[in-house]
Amino acid sequence: MLQTIYSPTGKGISCKSWETEALLRLLMNSLDPRVAESGQDLIVYGGTGKAARSKPMLQAIIKELQRLDSDSTLLIQSGKPVASFRTFSFFPRVLASAAMVVPAWATWKEFSRLEEKGLTMYGQATAASWAYIGVQGVLQATFETMSEVANRYFNGSLKGKIVLTSGLGGMGSAQPLSVTMNGGVAIVVEIDESKIQKRLMNNYCDIMVQTIDQALQLAEEAAQTDRPLAIALVGNAADVYCELVERGITPDIVTDQTAAHDLLHGYIPSGVSLEQAYFLRNKKPEKYVELAMQTVTAHVEAMKMFQERGAIVFDYGNNIRGQAKKAGYEEAFDFPGFVSEYLRPLYCEGRGPCRWVALSGDPDDIYKIDEVILSEFKSDERICRWIRYVQDKIYFYGLPARTCWLNYKERDELGEIINHMVASGQLSAPVAITRDHSEGSTMAAPTRETEGMLDGSDAVADWPILNGMLNACAGASMVSIQHGGGVGIGNSIHSGMTAVADGSIESFEKLQRLLKIDPGLNIIRHADAGYSTARSMIDKLGIKKPL
Ligand code: NAD
Repeated sequence: MLQTIYSPTGKGISCKSWETEALLRLLMNSLDPRVAESGQDLIVYGGTGKAARSKPMLQAIIKELQRLDSDSTLLIQSGKPVASFRTFSFFPRVLASAAMVVPAWATWKEFSRLEEKGLTMYGQATAASWAYIGVQGVLQATFETMSEVANRYFNGSLKGKIVLTSGLGGMGSAQPLSVTMNGGVAIVVEIDESKIQKRLMNNYCDIMVQTIDQALQLAEEAAQTDRPLAIALVGNAADVYCELVERGITPDIVTDQTAAHDLLHGYIPSGVSLEQAYFLRNKKPEKYVELAMQTVTAHVEAMKMFQERGAIVFDYGNNIRGQAKKAGYEEAFDFPGFVSEYLRPLYCEGRGPCRWVALSGDPDDIYKIDEVILSEFKSDERICRWIRYVQDKIYFYGLPARTCWLNYKERDELGEIINHMVASGQLSAPVAITRDHSEGSTMAAPTRETEGMLDGSDAVADWPILNGMLNACAGASMVSIQHGGGVGIGNSIHSGMTAVADGSIESFEKLQRLLKIDPGLNIIRHADAGYSTARSMIDKLGIKKPL
């Protein structure tokens, strides 16, 4: 059995440089039982998203990182350390590729065969790039989505509105808190009580109930008095949605975040208990997928029905529409995806999900950075409101970390600020700066990040590859190129990047180049596709673009 993994903290390091130590700490942090969904099985989040292929390979990665010279680069092939080469100190310490398969072979069936033979690993997005920081990582994107829904349809607030959704896993559990932070009431259906307990403990949910009637009664009482409330309902999402349709009940907003991208491991069919699911998926995987397909079809049909009755309905990035369409439900794409509907305008401005992690393990380091952000970015009410919100609502587990959607100029400035704070001793140790994979130029996913692009370039996947290569040249400490995150095998290509602010001049030089790349390419990708906001940003920011 694997020993429980916790990241080292403090100033002492076991690697030859802080740059490598940072990656080691991030890897171990992502498997910390307080951070990962099932660290013992190396599963970080998102169905079966893993940080290392197997336990011996995890140990080998740790050992290799500890002896890696500061002018060498370690190669990770789908969670397995395969080589290290002498490169330059300016280049990444780790390059990773995860779950890449030749396009015509990119099906779940073939991928599972390769995975079973121990030849590859499903890395989700931030799992294989060791940038996962728990549910907090996606909290702001979820908050921004809910805020955008509120702005567009409900005068800027979800007060008195009921949101029906499902899934309280690594990402999904950001939903209830994002709803209550916007003033609304959430009913979140989750089949696994242990997941609900976890979310009750960290205050992402307020109360657990066992029946639809209890959930409805509490939700209606709270909505009538404009009181925010997050209710977790034990049950199967498809069953609950169908029953609500039958009863003629229509919530204001409906979405879903079960791990439906992977029907075999991430989605429980109707009428199957958790224990039966474990047994059935191992003994009769084909039968399991057949049942899951029937359920997912009913689930999406119910969502479509809510839409017809006037609810705001959207796919929350788990490819649930794609699965239902594959199962034969032709109208599955009648409701939109969350990125094309709510987040793309932010991408066009070059805003994206930046995150930073205090490698010291000391929460004060994060609070000190918060204070500087509140003063340096005081003219940006959106950023300040967010920082104040999370200071109030979030407590840390694992390495203390913060996320914030920052634009081209802000990311650059933040890098400089943090590096200076490390150099001047205001922070007790270096800080890792990383991000989600979910941006316009860092993820190509035709049913998510790149759905419905203006120029029809949804399936063009050159951008995340260019992004990864450029980040590697500009001084990132780790770059990864991955396949299948968010929406599953065959449906996405994306890249991750992590940098380290260790207070050195070299780190300053790297961050200056590096932190312009993600937001800059994001703007360019959208300008190239014809988005006028992105085009005007190019002129405004003086970004070089040949055509
Ligand atoms: P997860 O595997 O950690 O959690 C999924 C949860 O769904 C589990 O708790 C599981 O018990 C529950 N579940 C499965 N089937 C169910 C059913 N029929 N009824 C009720 N509950 C059920 O996954 P996660 O990390 O929370 O991610 C959820 C989905 O969102 C994945 O498909 C993931 O790829 C996608 N995702 C979304 C975003 C985003 O920004 N929206 C980001 C990354 C990933």
